Formats: sequence, structure tokens, C-alpha cells
Amino acid sequence: MKVLGRLGFVFIGLLLLIPVLNVVKAESEISLSATTIRPGDFVRIKVKAPHGSLVRTVFRGVSKTLLEGDNGTFFGLIAASYYTTPDVYPLGVEIVKDEQVMTSLYQIQVIARKFPESRVVMDEAKRKKILTTPNRESDTKKTQEARKKVAQESQPPLWNSAFIWPVKGAITTEFGFIRYVNNIDNGRHSGLDIAANTGTPVLACNDGIVVFSGNLYLTGFTVIVYHGLDLFSSYAHLSALKAYEGDKIAKGDLVGLVGSTGLSTGPHLHLTFRVGETPVDPRLFLEQEVGWEF
Ligand SMILES: [Zn+2]
Repeated sequence: MKVLGRLGFVFIGLLLLIPVLNVVKAESEISLSATTIRPGDFVRIKVKAPHGSLVRTVFRGVSKTLLEGDNGTFFGLIAASYYTTPDVYPLGVEIVKDEQVMTSLYQIQVIARKFPESRVVMDEAKRKKILTTPNRESDTKKTQEARKKVAQESQPPLWNSAFIWPVKGAITTEFGFIRYVNNIDNGRHSGLDIAANTGTPVLACNDGIVVFSGNLYLTGFTVIVYHGLDLFSSYAHLSALKAYEGDKIAKGDLVGLVGSTGLSTGPHLHLTFRVGETPVDPRLFLEQEVGWEF
């Protein structure tokens, strides 16, 4: 009886311990918008976890802290660049609360995607003058600093429902195309080129905050809008800026006018979407609901 009594005590003790040990696990739920993606795609991550948890993702060596939006719901985005080699990549999700840790591992399959070539011919003197390493570095520094400033004080998603086309027009170069300018490799095409006449109003694709409005060597007059989390849209080669740093804008607000400033051969809008610093396919947003029900 004595032995059984002790066992009984241990058993009750375990019963008491189990719910305490698994509170994070019991109250947490992880949802991914997709597990099979192409280079240039992104995945939305929604985690329900106890309020005040630290929720982190690790994907391809990059660790990100997810943002707690509504009480106990955490949001995040991860992206695969157009350079991603098709393969299966682990995605780790870690939830930490009161020294309890729950780690989950997912497999993200990146499938092959063929990006065609795009050849642009322009005045060689103009190309040489604009396309220099110092110009590129100067542009990158300015835009990265603008993005990093807000990324540090990450906000919940500011966008609502579907994203709209900023201008209507023929798509002259798609996302991710391998770009040659005068037969010189100029990397990948980071966005969509939409043909439109000079002066055509350019509208914000969705709600957000302007984090950059200025003149850059390569993309000319450029406006970058922050949509919360890590998501940015940018509008390039404008003939005029109509929105300025710090402006809170709504979907459909005027941000600029179509032009051909910077490294451009004619009036068009170069539209880019980025998750953090990674360009993602704008077509994944336009006229599509980018919501959190999945
Ligand atoms: Zn372009």
C-alpha cells in the first residue's frame, strides 16, 4: 500500500504538471497560406498563441519576429527570391512564453519557375552615365534605410482587401525577367512595367504610409509605400511626386504621375512589391485578396 501510495502521488503530480508544461502547445495554432511556392512568391503565416508570446520564424537562415496584431494573433510574411533554387526548405516556427517553448518545423517546397529574358536597348552614353556602381549603391542605401526604419517598428497589416492597379496599361515587362540593357546583364527585373502616357495619375495600390519620396539615379522619381508587416510597394520613373514621406495614404490616393525618369526608355510605371528586401511578384497582390483566412 505504501508503494502504491507513493506511485499514486507521483501520478497525480504528473497530471498536474502536464497541463502546465503544454499550455503553449495547447493554446497555439499555426496556419500557413501555402507550403508549395515558386521563386518570387511569399507565404503568409498566422499564429494563434498566448498573448505576449515571442513568436519567431526561421527560413533560409533569416530569423524574423512575428508581430502580435489582435490579442494573441501573430502575423508574418516570408518570401523566396527569384534566385531561389528549386528545393525543399525547412521553415521553423518557435513560440516562447514564460520559459515554455514550442518548436514546429514545416517544409516549404520551392518549385521551378522559368524566367524569360528581356532585352532593352538604350543610348549607351545614358546607360553608362546612370548605371554605375556608386549610383546603384547610393540608391540601395537610401531605399534600404527607408524600409529598415519602419521595419524596426513593425505594424500590423495596414492593407485592406484586394490591391488595385496603380495605372491601367499594357504590361511590357513581367516580374523576374532576366534583364539585359544593351546586351549587358542587368540582373532581374524586380517588378512589373506598365505602359502609360506621361502624366497619367499613379494611385496607391492599397492603404499605407509613404516611407520614401525622392529622386534616385536608376528609378528616377520614386515613391515607396509601407503596408505594414514587411510589405512595401514602390512606384518608379515618375514625372512628378504627389505623396511625401510620412503621408498616410488610402488605396487609390494619388502618389505621382507616370514618367520616364531614371534608367528608362519611355513613359511607363515600374511597380515593385517587396517583403523586406526581397522583391516578390506584384501579380500576387493585384486584384487579389491578401487576407488571413486560410
Ligand atoms: Zn521596370
